[in-house]
Amino acid sequence: MAAERRGERVAIVGAGLAGCLLAVLLGRRGIEVTVYERRPDPRIAGAERGRSINLAISARGLAALEQVGLRDRSLKQALPMHGRMVHPLGKEQNFQPYSADGERAINSISRAQLNESLLDTAEATPGVTLRFSQRVTGVDVQAGALLMEDGGTEQADVVLAGDGAYSAVRRSLDLNEDADFLEHGYKELTVPPRDGDFALDPDALHIWPRGTSMMIALPNLDRSFTCTLFWPKSDLAALDSPEKVTAYFAEHYPDVAGLIPGLVDDYARNPVGSLVTVRCRPWTRRGDGAIVALLGDAAHAIVPFFGQGANCAFEDCIEIDRCLTETGGDWARALALYEERRKPNTDAIAEMALDNFIEMRDRVSSPVYRAKQAATHALERRLAGRYVSRYELVSFSTVPYARIPARIRRQNLALAGAASAALAGLAVLLRVALRKRR
Ligand code: FAD
Repeated sequence: MAAERRGERVAIVGAGLAGCLLAVLLGRRGIEVTVYERRPDPRIAGAERGRSINLAISARGLAALEQVGLRDRSLKQALPMHGRMVHPLGKEQNFQPYSADGERAINSISRAQLNESLLDTAEATPGVTLRFSQRVTGVDVQAGALLMEDGGTEQADVVLAGDGAYSAVRRSLDLNEDADFLEHGYKELTVPPRDGDFALDPDALHIWPRGTSMMIALPNLDRSFTCTLFWPKSDLAALDSPEKVTAYFAEHYPDVAGLIPGLVDDYARNPVGSLVTVRCRPWTRRGDGAIVALLGDAAHAIVPFFGQGANCAFEDCIEIDRCLTETGGDWARALALYEERRKPNTDAIAEMALDNFIEMRDRVSSPVYRAKQAATHALERRLAGRYVSRYELVSFSTVPYARIPARIRRQNLALAGAASAALAGLAVLLRVALRKRR
């Protein structure tokens, strides 16, 4: 299928974070693209409830936003978080910097604002048409048509599905798919400003690790914090009266309970979201009439514990754009290449995100973890660029995710070798010293 051919109908499903960025990138290539979004325009109707209010954007997301001129604007709308503030139960809170030099930060940004910036940019890009309140229910790849909720169809030769974790396009293609739900759900609460200022340190992502569950809080520009509970759904349901909510928070989150005046109302009103890892294959499907590819959460939803879902979705868009360049605009080859390159990376971050849940809800509060983290940062300072932590590689670099686990294993092996050599040397010195004393 020759691409960038005038008159070719390219459709993007979903004007979320990935769909909008991809629309801008394609528009800039001179490709005419129509974006179908099920919601009304959020810039007019307001943001939809039920998704995280804010999210952390780091190196990968910023690199992608830079390509469409949105990096600086996004950073102005964001608050840097240079580390974690850990709130163990019954002990003092402690700050754990994210990077060895303490300088690097991830950035807390409003999802709605980021989406609006991307919508504005997409709308201003020649060739991009945004169509709101258009729910797509599937794709007929033989007929080359999007199937619409109202029973109508829209013709399309290329369909790029960025319609999120519960993608209707993915389901209509009947792919080999596995959706793995955690027993944990999430619920958001708000810590409003106190006396006009932040009630907690705004330079940190706050974590209340509680073993099998946790709460986190990210700062907002209006000086509030959005807290997110990640609890087993049965525990969330068990607090079914105002008294139970108040008593539970007083016992398990005593340092923050008094900072949430709307606790009981927030708890009762705010929905419980699900946490899912989606693995599916293939991401592309070709028929006589159209070629379809999935991107972002539609292709590989991950749990949010590394703050990478949106960052990773943005990388997909950049890769599609790159593959179009490398294949001279041949959609079929470009999308096959995109899947081949991205799938190992998204599989890798999916696993690292699951592992990071255990780190955040449990390990971060242990003194052994803190000592290990301090040692890691000391090594990073001494062996700059040669010994790099997993957090640094994921959040502050654009090293492909798939390379990270192997690199960490190599570093750990080298470290174990050096440590045993150092111990052997120490034993020799000790033996000599002991002989002299005899
Ligand atoms: P979405 O953002 O879900 O966008 C999909 C779009 O498609 C939406 O606009 C939707 O309305 C539209 N749509 C859906 N169905 C249809 C349909 N049938 N027809 C037409 N349109 C449709 N990521 C990070 O990088 N950092 C974080 O800190 C972070 N925190 C998170 C916290 C939580 C609690 C959660 C749940 C996720 C978090 N994420 C984070 C992940 C991030 O939100 C997603 O990875 C990201 O939004 C994926 O972007 P997307 O464009 O693929 O999908």
